[in-house]
Amino acid sequence: MTSTNWAERSRQAVWHPCTQMKVHEHFPPRAIVAAEGPWLIDDQGKRILDAVSSWWVNLFGHNFGPIRDAITDQLGKLDHIMLAGLTHPPVVELSERLSDLTGLGHAFYASDGASATEIALKMSAHSWRNRGRAAKNQFIGLQGGYHGETAGALSVTDIPLFREAYAPLLRLSATLPSPDPRHAAPGVSAQAHTQAAIDALAAYLAEHHAHTAALILEPLVQGAAGMAMYAPEYLLAVRRLCDQYEVHWIADEIAVGFGRTGKLFAHQHAVLPEGGEGGHVKPDFICLSKGLTGGVLPLSAVLTTDDVYAAFWDERVVHGFLHSHSYTGNPLACRAALAVLDTFAERDAQGLDVLARNRVAAERFTQLTEPLTRHPRIKATRHIGMIWAWDVDTAEPTFAARYHRAALDAGLLLRPIGSTLYVMPPYVLSESDQRFLAEGALRVLDAVLADIDRLPASPAPVVPVP
Ligand SMILES: *Cc1c(COP(=O)(O)O)cnc(C)c1O
Repeated sequence: MTSTNWAERSRQAVWHPCTQMKVHEHFPPRAIVAAEGPWLIDDQGKRILDAVSSWWVNLFGHNFGPIRDAITDQLGKLDHIMLAGLTHPPVVELSERLSDLTGLGHAFYASDGASATEIALKMSAHSWRNRGRAAKNQFIGLQGGYHGETAGALSVTDIPLFREAYAPLLRLSATLPSPDPRHAAPGVSAQAHTQAAIDALAAYLAEHHAHTAALILEPLVQGAAGMAMYAPEYLLAVRRLCDQYEVHWIADEIAVGFGRTGKLFAHQHAVLPEGGEGGHVKPDFICLSKGLTGGVLPLSAVLTTDDVYAAFWDERVVHGFLHSHSYTGNPLACRAALAVLDTFAERDAQGLDVLARNRVAAERFTQLTEPLTRHPRIKATRHIGMIWAWDVDTAEPTFAARYHRAALDAGLLLRPIGSTLYVMPPYVLSESDQRFLAEGALRVLDAVLADIDRLPASPAPVVPVP
């Protein structure tokens, strides 16, 4: 008879992501057998609140009716076909609607965020090459930036822990100072720090624009850097400088897109003083994934400008963008994404849409977490939209792992990054869910810090793992 000890069988058969598998010797993975709304149910019947949206992908809870219905309907019509030489209604409709929402277009699809990064990088460099400017083939990323972990994406990712072992395999890009105000020198204001980051970008581009294809960044929130949040003014400067020096700006909205920061897309917070189309800055590329399908199926998309698209339009085959993935534009995933866009377009009986309801919910959750925010061991607190982060005063390198395990026992899925505790919940927490989360997060913090304070002093630095 086969055992139902899923954790043990998983340990034998599955290589888990972002995991030193030896850890599972003592702490086996939790087996989840069902999920409903923001709740996961493990194989012992225990309910766990998914407070990190299953690695930032889930928007409307698990088993969300409209997405499930859309996929089921599509499954009866067309499951999957290749997208070279063929097309289908869901991919056409999704591309049109993403274009209407972003002002960019020519949607190119893949299945993961990292693949979207690869596509944007390749498209940018290839477009310069097609324009006779092949020397523009280098990239810029920001300090603490995260864009995925395939070789190309990792080369613009500045998370040393993820990059160290592979550095010899990568064509590393330039890393410029982040506007994250936590990096400000002592006595330097957040505003002055933002300006210093802008000045550094201006100086770099002045010297290196001739061989720079693109700057890639996460607009407003650098997730893997510990939910670092920075001012939208930086993005206004990015747009101006990238225009001035003819460098593409790639906005990686993989984590922050689809309402996470309070606007549908995070770059839309960067409002142009002179107004203009949409009133906000427009990147040259937008990478989408994660929330694109509400966290149900793997899908990513890259949107770009008519100008970039035109650089590939040619009689010569090699001037085309010959990149492909087998599951490009999968119809089921496109239908899930269309159901997500429909959900954003709807209003409830009070006339509120998703973003308006989120504002009300966010205000309430901010109040409920006041005791956590005021905790004597919290050094700094950040919040935007549906992301909250608290920097905990601890140098204990095992803080994140300890907190994660204690939180699971308390019925909460939470995974601090280094010493930063963050909450990035699905948009559907009820008031009692929020209360459970706020009170539980505080209780777990007290318990974990009490445990840590009993340990002998440890000099090792905190290593962040998202
Ligand atoms: C998660 C993430 C990626 C990578 O997406 P995967 O689907 O995990 O490959 C890229 N950029 C950002 C900002 C992300 O948060």
